[in-house]
Amino acid sequence: MTAVREFDAIVVGAGFAGVTAARELRARGLRPVVIEARHRIGGRTWTDTFDGLPIEYGGGWISPFAKLAMAELDRYDIPLLEGVLPMPEWAVFPVEDGSLESFDGNVALGRLGELLTTIFEGSEKLLPRPHEPLFAGERIRAVAGQSLRERLDSLHLDTRDDMWISTLVGGFAGGSSKDGAYEALAQWWQVAGGKLADWITIEGQAPASGMSALVQEILNDAEADLHLNSPVTRVDDDGSLVRVTTASGREFAAPVAVLAVPANVWRTIDFRPGLPPVHAETAERGIGVPHTSRLWLRVRGDFGPVHVRDVENGLLTPMFTHAVLDNGEQLLTGYSQDPSLDVSRPEQVRAALQRLLPQAELISYRAHDWGHDPYSLGGWTLRRPGQLTQLPEVQEPHGRVAFANDGIASGWNGFVDGAIESGFRAAGQAADIAGK
Ligand SMILES: Cc1cc2nc3c(=O)[nH]c(=O)nc-3n(C[C@H](O)[C@H](O)[C@H](O)COP(=O)(O)OP(=O)(O)OC[C@H]3O[C@@H](n4cnc5c(N)ncnc54)[C@H](O)[C@@H]3O)c2cc1C
Repeated sequence: MTAVREFDAIVVGAGFAGVTAARELRARGLRPVVIEARHRIGGRTWTDTFDGLPIEYGGGWISPFAKLAMAELDRYDIPLLEGVLPMPEWAVFPVEDGSLESFDGNVALGRLGELLTTIFEGSEKLLPRPHEPLFAGERIRAVAGQSLRERLDSLHLDTRDDMWISTLVGGFAGGSSKDGAYEALAQWWQVAGGKLADWITIEGQAPASGMSALVQEILNDAEADLHLNSPVTRVDDDGSLVRVTTASGREFAAPVAVLAVPANVWRTIDFRPGLPPVHAETAERGIGVPHTSRLWLRVRGDFGPVHVRDVENGLLTPMFTHAVLDNGEQLLTGYSQDPSLDVSRPEQVRAALQRLLPQAELISYRAHDWGHDPYSLGGWTLRRPGQLTQLPEVQEPHGRVAFANDGIASGWNGFVDGAIESGFRAAGQAADIAGK
């Protein structure tokens, strides 16, 4: 089959990283084509409606400290809605024997806030420039291999405190605090302002348009040809031309390419020549959270807004009230890092809810399983112990192929802001390779 060749650059993936790269390539005078595996753009962001209510299956919140994402909202005149989440009146948290108990919302979340502040104490010295995570040199390298679990152990917390903080940080790490790097979460804390009052703004502020509309705006400015339903299976780089082949055998060729798929997906693509060692190791190991399902549950029950956390590695944790509806029902949102919860089976979802909130009656729900989704193979990214020191190398292009995704961002690694950052970087690298 003859390759389609009327483009200057190929962008694989139409998430935030890919559409940003495409727009910035266009701004440098290159004509991009965007090749996307799914039937839709947006990747791990996906705005939908559920019984008439707007929901996000993936990334939805934008912190006011996320400067690149905020700049995009500004550019497209999309307001950021603040205070979207109701204050939880009560909380359900684990206690020493592994069962769950009810607490006053302020008491439980207040304690969690104190514990977070404790674990990140001193992190400003490790990350004095949080958008340059290796800036502190030996000081940060010395802790780069430390897991969140090791950090918690070094604090000798009492059992309940340890349970509460480990379920929170374990959730960010994909279920277990052993899997996430302490430095990676400390970087989240620092890019988000470095104190509790700022940290809590990473959730609860959302673009009025929903995320998908913002991705579309960026793509519009790329003036790119978009090919949906076109999973890329192979990338050949012969030193002067990159040929990209899709599952249906269609070929595209251009002098440069930006591979803007999640790092967890690299292992599903046949690269010729093969990836350099650090990229190959990253492809094998993945970056961050291998299993995440996001659930939206409409429930009935005689209770106010709630925040629920199960034990670390629990089936469905955290879960909290997203909205109280006019008829008194609640829209809850929850996350599961456990691949054994099959969110397509209502009886399993009902049983998971029953453990957490027996007083809630499930009316209906929606969910997306990002871990079993072949085009993400995971949720957001949070670096694993040891991955930080490989960051500069993994940000480098491989021949005529540049890489972009949230997991290789310098700043808001694991967030939409980081995906945008990586898109800007990759567009610059690709333009340099193309001599533009
Ligand atoms: C449940 C959940 C909650 C989150 N919450 C937040 C939040 O509140 N705020 C925040 O900032 N971030 C959040 N994130 C993270 C955020 O969604 C991601 O950081 C961001 O969307 C990543 O963008 P990306 O472009 O790097 O990757 P993606 O969005 O994954 O885009 C990659 C694109 O490549 C495509 N692709 C994959 N394989 C191929 C292939 N072989 N061929 C062609 N195309 C392919 C994919 O279909 C996809 O469209 C969340 C993520 C999840 C899963």
